[in-house]
Amino acid sequence: MAEQRVIVIGAGIGGLAAAAELAARGLHVTVVEAQATPGGKLREVPVGGGLRVDGGPTVFTMRWVFEALFEALGTSLEAELELRPATILARHAWDEARLDLFADIDRSADAIGDFAGAEDAKGYRRLCADSQRMFQILDQSFMQAAAPSMQGLIGGVGIGGVFGLRHIRPFTTLWRALGDYFADQRLRQLFARYATYCGSSPFQAPATLMLVTHVEQAGVWLLDGGMHSLARTLEAIARRHGAQFRYQAEAAEILVEASRIAGVRLASGERLAGDAVIANTDTAALATGRLGAAVTKAVPRIAPAKRSLSAVTFAMAAEVRGFPLVHHNVFFSRDYPGEFQDIHEHGRLPQDPTVYVCAQDRGDDDTVPPAGTERIFALINAPASGDSRPLTADAIEACTGKLHAVLCRSGLTLEAAPESLTLTTPTDFDRLFPATGGALYGPASHGWQASFQRPGVKTKLAGLYLAGGSVHPGPGIPMATLSGRLAAASLLADLGRRP
Ligand SMILES: Cc1cc2nc3c(=O)[nH]c(=O)nc-3n(C[C@H](O)[C@H](O)[C@H](O)COP(=O)(O)OP(=O)(O)OC[C@H]3O[C@@H](n4cnc5c(N)ncnc54)[C@H](O)[C@@H]3O)c2cc1C
Repeated sequence: MAEQRVIVIGAGIGGLAAAAELAARGLHVTVVEAQATPGGKLREVPVGGGLRVDGGPTVFTMRWVFEALFEALGTSLEAELELRPATILARHAWDEARLDLFADIDRSADAIGDFAGAEDAKGYRRLCADSQRMFQILDQSFMQAAAPSMQGLIGGVGIGGVFGLRHIRPFTTLWRALGDYFADQRLRQLFARYATYCGSSPFQAPATLMLVTHVEQAGVWLLDGGMHSLARTLEAIARRHGAQFRYQAEAAEILVEASRIAGVRLASGERLAGDAVIANTDTAALATGRLGAAVTKAVPRIAPAKRSLSAVTFAMAAEVRGFPLVHHNVFFSRDYPGEFQDIHEHGRLPQDPTVYVCAQDRGDDDTVPPAGTERIFALINAPASGDSRPLTADAIEACTGKLHAVLCRSGLTLEAAPESLTLTTPTDFDRLFPATGGALYGPASHGWQASFQRPGVKTKLAGLYLAGGSVHPGPGIPMATLSGRLAAASLLADLGRRP
């Protein structure tokens, strides 16, 4: 079987998972990656003085997905990475008001009771129970299937079929559904924000996304060495199994001969022969012809209006004053509907944004790092129009001002030397992830049909498979990892081998 040559385009987490798994099964795997390092969005950004900070995902969840992957690769998560469970999931702030969510449900319910009253504490417990049920329904029947299918889902909800679908509430928006659990609008806002984990607006995303409540409740983990170490580790395991990695090697064309995959042409002109390709790029790159005319029809084309959120991110080494940051912190907008109207209806940066701040040097307690600068990553949601409407210098300056104004309402000041600040805009993300406009999560999950419209991992073109956040089962590190594993399994099945 060693003569089977697989080319993986992209060393994002989905590509890495697929490459490692196929190399471990004895296939000849070459990963071609346009950037100089693995990880894709799971990236690190320099902040001066030789320091680097996670500049992409920061919240590690669904540990079991990685345990299963590492086991399939003949090792274990514990053997490869140091993980600590977070006891505080996140600290949330609305001006001077503050609320922590804990890994322990009872502790969170007590905190919510003190914050908003006994009824909302009960609402929170109901939400935890309902989101757990949703997760259980969708886990096997939907997330672990190679392609999204209504049939599989109906099977998963068991006796009652379509009637049982009410448990996952696909026809109600997340925002509306949360009104059934909380009278306090701040709590509604807190749990509605989980829609943004899929790059979507809580005012348009289905209530099904409340399952993220369960995902976080099931454990948020902190990685020693940061999130990027996950990509480095997976790359090292794939290499141990014989996979080859070629960096700064951009794929320019997927070659097709006699209606099946024949290899990849690099931007340098070099041609790599291959029997199969796993494309870990956003599917928009294929649909818009960035990888050649022969594969444009292999995936559906997504209209720019259906893109998920982009972001403006700030990576820095900063002096922190005036607020007890923990690892994950959220500073909420005073006008949550307005934030998403600005992005989706007006196509502009929010006038009053919600700001996420990751204090990477802090644990999940109130331990303050030694005095001096610490590594900070901050994020504001933005429209994915980096290709058509790049932000002007004035807009970027205004956005920076708003970031500090929102933090200042809660007492937080961040002071960073200009040379230690790396700002990433939707246009920068579009350059890193071509044909996306800067959208970071594939198509938005707006409306009940969105999840069914993502392509499955196997395309109609013989030998072409897909992996990553724009593919089923969706975005986020665990989901993109699952898609990589599903793509590998699908390819192995086509070779007549059991996954
Ligand atoms: C700022 C930010 C915060 C996030 N926060 C979280 C979080 O807290 N938790 C979470 O779970 N998820 C989070 N996500 C989402 C998560 O990072 C992504 O869903 C996931 O990393 C996507 O992985 P992927 O497999 O799609 O590959 P990607 O990361 O999209 O990587 C694709 C790779 O393909 C390469 N490539 C593209 N075109 C070519 C080509 N032609 N030739 C060669 N190489 C090519 C790119 O350079 C890139 O390395 C966040 C994302 C961002 C950007």
